[in-house]
Amino acid sequence: MSGEPQADCLFCKIVAGEIPATVVRKTERTLAFRDIHPQAPTHILVIPHVHYPNAAALAAAEPLIAAELLTEAAAVAADEGIDAYRLIFNTGAGAGQTIFHAHVHVLGGKPLREGMV
Ligand code: AMP
Ligand code: ZN
Repeated sequence: MSGEPQADCLFCKIVAGEIPATVVRKTERTLAFRDIHPQAPTHILVIPHVHYPNAAALAAAEPLIAAELLTEAAAVAADEGIDAYRLIFNTGAGAGQTIFHAHVHVLGGKPLREGMV
């Protein structure tokens, strides 16, 4: 796995501009866009342009890009005007991961329940 685009990956297609998305931020390495099924008033996904199946695989191969997902998540929250937010990295189908291109969910804009789930 070396980060190349995967033909069957929805998020690679969004990075390539082949599928539309509501993009809110973009850097040379990352893209942030609104989740199509928002679970909170702010629900934005931050993804790397490169394809890795989950955040840990991204961090192992491209640690600087993995770190940039976090700084971009904070920038998204600042752009949205929210000072409290939750970051979620679903990893594995059993944890609810449905798209196997690394991404972090940025959730906020309403009081979030305490606890992990
Ligand atoms: P996960 O379940 O962690 O793999 O998250 C995948 C997320 O992608 C889900 O919250 C979906 O609602 C979201 N999603 C799926 N298709 C699209 C799309 N075309 N544009 C934006 N978000 C999407
Ligand atoms: Zn991909």
